[in-house]
Amino acid sequence: MTHTSQNIALAIHGGAGNYDKAEQDVQIEHLRSVAERGRTMLLGGVSALDVVEELAVMLEDAGLYVAGKGTGPNSAGEYELDACIMDGASRNVGAVAALKGFKNPVRVARAVMEHTPHVMLAGNGAQTFAALRNCTPVENPLEYYIICGVTRLPHELDTGTIGVVARDNKGRLAAATSTGGLLGKMAGRVGDSPLPGAGCWADERVAISCTGQGEYFIKAATAADISARMAYADTPLPEAAKAALTDMKTQGGYGGVIALGKTGIATMPYTSKGMRRAWIDADGAVRVDV
Ligand code: ASP
Repeated sequence: MTHTSQNIALAIHGGAGNYDKAEQDVQIEHLRSVAERGRTMLLGGVSALDVVEELAVMLEDAGLYVAGKGTGPNSAGEYELDACIMDGASRNVGAVAALKGFKNPVRVARAVMEHTPHVMLAGNGAQTFAALRNCTPVENPLEYYIICGVTRLPHELDTGTIGVVARDNKGRLAAATSTGGLLGKMAGRVGDSPLPGAGCWADERVAISCTGQGEYFIKAATAADISARMAYADTPLPEAAKAALTDMKTQGGYGGVIALGKTGIATMPYTSKGMRRAWIDADGAVRVDV
């Protein structure tokens, strides 16, 4: 999973879920182009942190996933978005929750990380801050978002968060996760995606982005669990990710993770029918699967 000659590595996801794999052609092509862009950036020496932000923006703008433009309305008919970005080398992290009115929550999360003393801003405070930082607004939600007027019961909710993990040619790891959350969620509901240690994490060992039913990833602290298993029990990343996911599943949820270790080994287990994902393989080629 590593482009060994250049010491870079990358994995991205467009959500885990119980969708029909045969209907994912557009997503497959899009994930390929995003991963190819990431490979070019990493080979050009761009930092892992900048790469995860830029690729997350491409995924948010696509309207093909439940993030950014593809976000669905909550039960009050409003669009509330969550995102997190984390730099493994410094442990710097920024996040936004229940953010309304901005195209790229991951950019606001990065600004929280770099321009506030805090880790997370939510709701009105996040919006005021995003406006101050000149983040791009959504002028007309009903025109901008692809999914309008969908109302579903909680147990029928869909998933489709996006995430990116990268290692740059200096060996630094970074992760980003961005989501519109669960379709039809209650107003004010915040899932795992913006929570460091639940749906997003990067440290010196591993970079992780999760997708699936967020409540269960929070109950299992899935991302933190993976890193802790590696640190405390010396568990190799693939086993650590699988064990953490099994614990999440035991709580009753489904979903998946993409995780990239210090050595460039990526692992991408999931418990749902599928998980849209792309990565750079050992020969430096981009691979995609759903
Ligand atoms: N984990 C996200 C959430 O619960 C949903 C997803 O992954 O699609 O908000």
